[in-house]
Amino acid sequence: MSNIDDKYARPTFRPVVGIDLGTTNSAVAFIHRGKPEIIPSPQGRRITPSVVLIDLKNRIIVGEDARAALVAMPDRTVAAVKRKMGSKERIPVGGQALLPQEISALILKELKSYVDTRLGEGEKEAVITVPAYFTDEQRRATKQAGELAGFVVERIINEPTAAALAFGLDHLEEDRHILVYDLGGGTFDVSIVEMMSGVLEVKATTGNNHLGGEDFDWKIVDWLAEKIIAEHNIDPRDDIRARALLKEEAEKIKKELSARETVTVSLPVVTVKDNRPVGLDLEFTREQLVALIDPLLQETMNHVQRVLADAGLVKDDIDEILLVGGSTRIPRVHELIRNFFGKEPRMDVNPDEAVALGAAVQAGLKSGSLSKSGLVATDVAPFSMGIAVLKEWKGITLRPGGFHAIIPRNTTIPVTRTETFYTTSDGQTAASIEIYQGEHEWTKHNHRLGEFLLEGIPPNKAGAEAVEVTYRYNLNGILEVTARCVSTGKEMSVTVQDALNRDSQEAFSESAARLEALWQNVDNEDFDDELVGEEMELFNELPDNGDEQLEVDQELASADMHEEASGLLARAQKLLPTLAGAERLKLEKAIHLLNNAMSGDDIDQLQEALDRVTDLMIDLEFKE
Ligand code: AMP
Repeated sequence: MSNIDDKYARPTFRPVVGIDLGTTNSAVAFIHRGKPEIIPSPQGRRITPSVVLIDLKNRIIVGEDARAALVAMPDRTVAAVKRKMGSKERIPVGGQALLPQEISALILKELKSYVDTRLGEGEKEAVITVPAYFTDEQRRATKQAGELAGFVVERIINEPTAAALAFGLDHLEEDRHILVYDLGGGTFDVSIVEMMSGVLEVKATTGNNHLGGEDFDWKIVDWLAEKIIAEHNIDPRDDIRARALLKEEAEKIKKELSARETVTVSLPVVTVKDNRPVGLDLEFTREQLVALIDPLLQETMNHVQRVLADAGLVKDDIDEILLVGGSTRIPRVHELIRNFFGKEPRMDVNPDEAVALGAAVQAGLKSGSLSKSGLVATDVAPFSMGIAVLKEWKGITLRPGGFHAIIPRNTTIPVTRTETFYTTSDGQTAASIEIYQGEHEWTKHNHRLGEFLLEGIPPNKAGAEAVEVTYRYNLNGILEVTARCVSTGKEMSVTVQDALNRDSQEAFSESAARLEALWQNVDNEDFDDELVGEEMELFNELPDNGDEQLEVDQELASADMHEEASGLLARAQKLLPTLAGAERLKLEKAIHLLNNAMSGDDIDQLQEALDRVTDLMIDLEFKE
């Protein structure tokens, strides 16, 4: 940019990077010479698959290699963890049971290693993006993931806002309405961003955080599975490995159909029935794909109409349509947009990189490296936030559990809003402030964020005492609530954020310790001492001291490996009858070695045999 002085292009003493933590892929960028720039992996890859593998030696592998292991080692890999962010579900992976934010932290740590290589070691700040529809918990989990990875998380911003920022930097002189249609691997967002004299404001945003390219893949998987069921009367989806194989093939088919009209599907072994391989051999057309996914694409167009209505605009008010997210490469998406708006969508910012680049722009605004760009960003609240009140029911009685929005959805943030409420019964001395997020008029259909009690209200007649409730919502999507008794001035200093933070501090330390143990083990190439389930019982039975501890660790590692080996043997034996000649001999020999190693107590020998059979199985089962 010509209007950016080069001295601002140098990183500040604590660099700030922008991160797109995607469902399918992630990327990191920073501002270099006044422009956002992707920081590639040491192998030169600009986007990193959001897939984590904990391999047989307990090494943590993130990205392309982990993705390649999805089929071969489904129980050691995790993909699409973003869909679980904010939940407390422990995800089993390679003998561990990790929280979604812990797995995300492993992905972010990988990105941080690229940053450290490019910008040098030391503390880094990060702006991380989330889908506009992420709840408070999901945003918090994302922030926590960033912190667990070692970043100072400067801000959490919405992906469409970031995308618009990436686009906005080059078109500052124009005043316009931009529609950002973001269809990624797991989420869909559509937003309307208004740009006026370099000020970007998200006017409205909507979407579905469970709709994306992954769903298209599964539609294809189902279709392929139906073919196999019809021909062989066996459902390949019941076999976890066949399912993973079909999923991988489905994505390949889908991507190829963005460039071609027809693809040939040829999979000699999808699964095995009566010791015979069951495969697929067919042609699949773009038309067939469109028929499968059109209902989902139509849903995205319904969201487009909704976002226009929310922003109080009609389609002719939209000057630009910006396509982001890998799934917008599907030609049918362009066609639907073109038909609806009567103009071509733009893809002049790489759809895979737009969000990370925009996050870097936000990072640059923060660090000062873009302070002369003339760009300012605001955002909107993605949900209404409010309070439980007595509400009229069927026009006659007053019922508890009504929802009253204090910050309505799509309000520009940061925002502070205060409203006054009155006591509802005679002699009332306390008011319960129940905080909810959502759009329904009854709280039970909305999402509860917290509750606190304002005490010390002077006893008085119903309606005579007033309580002022203040909601403060900041750009990180974090809410603070305060309540004040008007007559006494007494204020409750308890806020939702404090309450939640106190809870999560403990959880954070636990997560940090868990990850530390994981990383430690990797460094030492040691076996894992994170114990779950039955293994924990075994540990508890034994005294915690030096040599014995080592023995326990080895025993656990060995138990782990035996379990792994048994599964592998079963698979190998299943595969054997389908092979002939040299391949069969090779596998027989490897099975023999593994059997021997399992009956002995040499852990290294067992590991070696395991590695050998695993490699062979990957070759045999999934060769093209
Ligand atoms: P994102 O979450 O933005 O990284 O998008 C990833 C999604 O885009 C995945 O579901 C990919 O399968 C999908 N995708 C990437 N390239 C293409 C393509 N050429 N055609 C169709 N879908 C694609």
